[in-house]
Amino acid sequence: MHVLVIGGGISGLAAAHRLSSRGVRTTVLEASSRVGGKVQAGSVAGAAAVDLGAESMLARRPEAVELARAAGLGEDLTAPDVTGGALWNRGEIRPMPKGHVMGVPGDAEALRGIVSPEGLARIAEDERLPRTELGEDAAIGEYVAARLGREVVDRLVEPLLGGVYAGDAYRISMRAAVPQLYEAARQEPSLLAAVRAVQRESRRAAERAEGEQPPAFLGVRGGLGRLPQAVADACRAAGAEVRTGTRVRRLERAADGWGAVVEGPEGERSLTADAVVVAVPAPAAAELLRAESPGAAVELAAFEYASMALVTMAFRRSEVSLPGGSGFLVPPVEGRSIKAATFSGSKWRWVAEQAPELTLVRTSLGRYGEERVLERDDAELAALARTDLAAAAGITAEPVDTLVTRWDAGLPQYPSGHPARVGRIRAALGSVPRLALCGAALDGVGIPACVASGRSAADQALAEAGESSKREGRESHV
Ligand SMILES: Cc1cc2nc3c(=O)[nH]c(=O)nc-3n(C[C@H](O)[C@H](O)[C@H](O)COP(=O)(O)OP(=O)(O)OC[C@H]3O[C@@H](n4cnc5c(N)ncnc54)[C@H](O)[C@@H]3O)c2cc1C
Repeated sequence: MHVLVIGGGISGLAAAHRLSSRGVRTTVLEASSRVGGKVQAGSVAGAAAVDLGAESMLARRPEAVELARAAGLGEDLTAPDVTGGALWNRGEIRPMPKGHVMGVPGDAEALRGIVSPEGLARIAEDERLPRTELGEDAAIGEYVAARLGREVVDRLVEPLLGGVYAGDAYRISMRAAVPQLYEAARQEPSLLAAVRAVQRESRRAAERAEGEQPPAFLGVRGGLGRLPQAVADACRAAGAEVRTGTRVRRLERAADGWGAVVEGPEGERSLTADAVVVAVPAPAAAELLRAESPGAAVELAAFEYASMALVTMAFRRSEVSLPGGSGFLVPPVEGRSIKAATFSGSKWRWVAEQAPELTLVRTSLGRYGEERVLERDDAELAALARTDLAAAAGITAEPVDTLVTRWDAGLPQYPSGHPARVGRIRAALGSVPRLALCGAALDGVGIPACVASGRSAADQALAEAGESSKREGRESHV
């Protein structure tokens, strides 16, 4: 059995790891010159390692942590030194309030100091309003605004969701982004009651879990950007081939599997396999599936992405004094250029230890619908980031180095109706045997969701190829 995995981001690598560790002949085909996709290591100020893309992974879901351990990074998994971010709210940095689910509070008091007194009174109205029926899905911003008022969305939900999707809360699918809250809101009489129900359930889950609670997030000493290479090495050690600089141009069904036309260092070639895992972003998947599954391709081509840029700055430690905490989020209503700032050396001890003379700060710019800022050149983006850092945290020192990393089409958007669209794609692909789709566009953009999606695509491809070869074996015997 030979399986091709198209795309060497974390989803494809997770699929390849699953396949190769089960003894299946696996070939990963990655278009760019490195594996990892949106997970990328880099360095600033000469040698200080930094993450240029994803930097932490949710550890309350097991998949990404399991993959890191299996790839030999178990000893290097590390929790943030400080947790609990902050908000740049009405010109002031304030600690992130507690007692909310993705910015939606369980009672008005939770947001005192963040929303205005009128905003607090509006939140309390929720329990007097008639129920708002939630259909198959809703845009979370619209729904929360209808129940609790726009201020909650603009001040809290928007920056928190923005941190995950670089999206617009007034479009994002409630069902996909906060599924527990969506379910609770269908049962409970009010949204506040739904939040309290979700909070009760997570308290119960914490009580049920024995022993100490693991940290919510983990990173990797030296950078999460080490993860893809470590997984690729583990795949190679298990016999897989991982080819970079190899773009898949076309996929064609063959009598007993698939043929792929690839363009790599040796020019254009054809490869064959018993099954294929497609682990590329939605527009690329649409291109590859156009001939064999036009229905899935049309849906995939309709996905929208947000672009963003990260500006990472290294300052002389002696010249800056940071506020406490790991950084801050910026609600778009503040009208600033940056959407978030991470004090990398405060958040991750390894960052501070590797370059004790430096203070590293990473800021992000751009989100869905606000990409015009990204038309500026790197120097202008860096200047915007510095202006905002000076206003927010009084950081006026000259950085010793500044790195601008652009992520064009970095994050798929999950608008209201997203789960139904994914359902239609899966239904269309149901009639395409021995092919499985995975990746950030489907069931979650976070690293654990991508790993889960890669693993289940690997299992599906194996099961389908195994089933058909059993059938073929039987038929030829007859
Ligand atoms: C700036 C940024 C910060 C983030 N921070 C976090 C974070 O802290 N925590 C978190 O959990 N998530 C974070 N995310 C989200 C997460 O990193 C991504 O959703 C995830 O890495 C996507 O993985 P993927 O494998 O599905 O896709 P990708 O990483 O996009 O990988 C797809 C791969 O397919 C390749 N490819 C495309 N077309 C072809 C082709 N025709 N042939 C061969 N190869 C092809 C591409 O080159 C790419 O390497 C962040 C994302 C961004 C952009």
